[in-house]
Amino acid sequence: MLAKDIEKVLITREDIQKRCVELGAQLTADYTDKNPLVVGILKGAVPFMADIVREIDTHLELDFMDVSSYGNQTVSSGEVKIIKDLDTNVEGRDLLIVEDIIDSGRTLGYLVDLFKYRKAKSVKIVTLLDKPEGRVVDIHADYVGFDVPNEFVVGYGLDYAEAYRNLPYVGVLKPKIYQSN
Ligand code: 5GP
Repeated sequence: MLAKDIEKVLITREDIQKRCVELGAQLTADYTDKNPLVVGILKGAVPFMADIVREIDTHLELDFMDVSSYGNQTVSSGEVKIIKDLDTNVEGRDLLIVEDIIDSGRTLGYLVDLFKYRKAKSVKIVTLLDKPEGRVVDIHADYVGFDVPNEFVVGYGLDYAEAYRNLPYVGVLKPKIYQSN
């Protein structure tokens, strides 16, 4: 049971589903007839991306990018490295980046600059979670699911050492999980 490792649940599955419906309505209004390229950042954004795109009622395309900034630790390394690039040419496209969480903002700062350099027509960000206290780079999301406090969270795509991504809610781990590693 994964739940036995969780100290507290911060955001329930129901909260997330409800927020996805609200964000989906906004995104539908903002992207109708634009055929946006929705870019999921692997692997953490996958559960949220699957939910949010099914709430957007207009044509869109999907692509994925994998970048690393964290390794297996709970503190940012400050480095961003491309592990898997997009398959799609972004020139002239309206891009919507889907993220699991924005902490320092380094990952998205890097990606927004990269996509602008590649001549995307517009670049916007939708993130499930925002940790405003962690910000180092001046970046803000255009659409935010929930603000979270400055603690390490797991679930709904977010991992600790690659585990807990499949938890259907966002929560905080018991301290003993870190101590045993
Ligand atoms: P940033 O570049 O904004 O500091 O970090 C973005 C990435 O760091 C996220 O996509 C996520 O992979 C990881 N990250 C930041 N905060 C957390 C957290 O509280 N929990 C987990 N599991 N990952 C986090």
